[in-house]
Amino acid sequence: RARELPAVSTERSNVQAFERAQRVIPGGVNSPVRAFRAVGGTPRFIRRAEGAYLWDVEGRRYIDYIGSWGPMILGHGHPAVLDAVMKAARDGLSFGAPTEAEAELAEAIIAQVPSVQQVRLVSSGTEAGMSALRLARGATGRSAIVKFEGCYHGHADALLVKAGSGLATFGHPTSAGVPPEVVQHTMVLEYNNVGQLEQAFAERGHEIACVMIEPIAGNMNFVRASVPFMTRLRELCTQHGALLVFDEVMTGFRVALGSAQSLYARLIPGFQPDMSVFGKVIGGGMPLAAFGGSRDVMAQLAPLGPVYQAGTLSGNPVATACGLATLREISRPGFFDALAARTRALVDGLAAEARDAGVPMAVDSEGGMFGFFFAADLPQNYPAVMATDKERFNRFFHAMLDRGVYLAPALYEAGFVSATHTEADIAATLQAAREALRQG
Ligand code: PLP
Repeated sequence: RARELPAVSTERSNVQAFERAQRVIPGGVNSPVRAFRAVGGTPRFIRRAEGAYLWDVEGRRYIDYIGSWGPMILGHGHPAVLDAVMKAARDGLSFGAPTEAEAELAEAIIAQVPSVQQVRLVSSGTEAGMSALRLARGATGRSAIVKFEGCYHGHADALLVKAGSGLATFGHPTSAGVPPEVVQHTMVLEYNNVGQLEQAFAERGHEIACVMIEPIAGNMNFVRASVPFMTRLRELCTQHGALLVFDEVMTGFRVALGSAQSLYARLIPGFQPDMSVFGKVIGGGMPLAAFGGSRDVMAQLAPLGPVYQAGTLSGNPVATACGLATLREISRPGFFDALAARTRALVDGLAAEARDAGVPMAVDSEGGMFGFFFAADLPQNYPAVMATDKERFNRFFHAMLDRGVYLAPALYEAGFVSATHTEADIAATLQAAREALRQG
């Protein structure tokens, strides 16, 4: 692939772009984490991207470890994906009528995820999570739901909840504009805490419609659900008739072709969630997400069943073509082995640099997703993540950005490597990390 790129305009600075945006867009951004509030400083306004690189409006190049927060697993501007998108666009941007490509994408998802027999396509992870929740409640006839502190499932009202003060109590809204009555059925428990889970089910098991979980929590950097925790969670859901919903918006087709559930199925005999939520990679960078499960559960959805769900742009032909082309590329033999090895080389390299610099750092990765913490050990839950060294993270983030490495701008966000990150990109990143760590 050609890496020589035309020069970009350097007329406008990031500061000017940010000031202009702030006049007409709240906070200057269309999604809050882009504003760099957690780390301070001016967000980079991106002009274009190719492969593993982003260029900002000042013409500066960055090695991109955000990848649009997960979707860009093939890197930016993959030729086969672009061709598919252009062709679909020429055939029509939106019909509001079914297309064969939607069934093809559904088949491509189902082929890799045995727990899913049917899917419905939507336009964002938020929409998919919200719809999965309604379906779980409709299918079970129950109202209560369980989520875990530190997991993010999109910004549907019922899921914007922080933990209550007591064990197995219902939570409090984390956002203004969410009435307490709307979250009165949402229980928030600590991630990886088997005792709390058992107590919650003992007290309210018969009320619980579903438990929603990020199997590898990428919204608290990178925290795996432990095997004993996941085993017990599966048992309790089955025993009490609650649906286990895997939110694989981030992990789906990112940590493995079969998603995170394939990893747990290898560790826990017969393991499957009841429902799954996907987004990010399955849209390849276009607005597309999905939720799915068994044929029986999905039959509860309109037009077959009583649970309503709809969307003008659902299954949009351009987004569907983008997702299909992406899934085709990542299904090639050896794709995930190579991606996982490159990602592992990055985190192992970071850990080695930190060791050399005498800085405590714990790292983890799976497939093309990774996390690193300024802490001696990998955190197992949200309070432990938030207890890692935030000041050092923020200094490291800015030192890396100054050296052309674009990491997620908050210590509770995961990182992503694409198939276009080369050994040289990893080496350049580690060189930057060496300097950044020694800087303090
Ligand atoms: N679920 C998880 C695990 C996510 O990481 C996200 C977004 O980052 C969402 C749901 C919401 O997806 P979206 O931002 O597409 O609405």
